[in-house]
Amino acid sequence: MAETATLTQAPARIDFGRFPRTNLCHRPTPIEAMPRLTELLGGPRLFIKRDDCTGLATGGNKTRKLEFLVGEAMREKADMLVTQGAVQSNHVRQTAAAACKVGMKCHVLLERRVPGRDASYETTGNVLLDDLFGATHEFRPAGLDMNAEAEAVAEALRAEGHRPYFIPGGGSNPTGALGYANCAQEIAEYTSETGQAFDWLVMATGSTGTQAGLVAGFQTIGHDLPVMGVSVRQPRERQMSAVHGLTQKTLEKLGAEGVPLSRILVDDGYVGEGYGIPAESTMEAIRLLARQEGILLDPVYSAKGMAGLIGMVRQGFFKPTDNVLFLHTGGAVALFAYQDQLIASMT
Ligand SMILES: *Cc1c(COP(=O)(O)O)cnc(C)c1O
Repeated sequence: MAETATLTQAPARIDFGRFPRTNLCHRPTPIEAMPRLTELLGGPRLFIKRDDCTGLATGGNKTRKLEFLVGEAMREKADMLVTQGAVQSNHVRQTAAAACKVGMKCHVLLERRVPGRDASYETTGNVLLDDLFGATHEFRPAGLDMNAEAEAVAEALRAEGHRPYFIPGGGSNPTGALGYANCAQEIAEYTSETGQAFDWLVMATGSTGTQAGLVAGFQTIGHDLPVMGVSVRQPRERQMSAVHGLTQKTLEKLGAEGVPLSRILVDDGYVGEGYGIPAESTMEAIRLLARQEGILLDPVYSAKGMAGLIGMVRQGFFKPTDNVLFLHTGGAVALFAYQDQLIASMT
């Protein structure tokens, strides 16, 4: 009986149509082989899912989340998006662009989270594009509860007659994480359409919505691809419990059963000195991907994630026959805010 049921059952699909959503994203994003990086490292077969090509304002992972967040903002008849991030936040840039696309205003709080940067850090890269998209911004010193700060600002704006919709940092709440549950489904569909299966999925993890959404998505459709998050900021235990918390809330929103903490995999060996401070391995990852594959990584997130993948290959973490998929989460706009380090790393 049970065997028959398994054979005749179509793969489970999530009905995303029951959630408000607006179209911002090029989907599905391509999956490409990385033969020259694979050969150089002499390890498992490496692939990359190009979420740097989501199509909104140079792309990146926040676009998938914003489809559901902005969808909800539109349903609430908001006229303004309010969010927060670090100075060189990719999330803020994509939110500012999304606001333009749907005809809303955008106001953001930028946290001076990274110490020791020169003045241009606050005008170039993502900040330049935030300004181009007409977002207004105000700065905050490091270490505040930035979501609380941004919610307070949203309340003040509401009192002035605006209709703000608050988006937490990184778009990481159960609504935003739906974007990555959708990405999990996309990866499973790619495998069933092409026959190319993967043994591991690796990516950078920060505000947690990407990893939580992926784990929740795979759990909901019954696909057991392990998801390894490479921390860009927090120590392992803290990141695991934060990712797990959002995974459970996202599963609840999807109407699916929860997962044990042991399903959340995090490596914190590639943070270096801290958030937004590239380590030696970060700069090496940027150089290798550029020169082996013609792909741009960023110094805050995706290159730390890739440094993790490279490190795991070198340590023999994967089997030589494994197929390993790296999720490129975008961010290359920030390269211009790290010009000095980039130049130094090439000499
Ligand atoms: C935000 C971001 C991440 C991290 O995703 P989270 O959902 O915040 O964990 C990774 N890469 C880039 C380029 C990002 O901008």
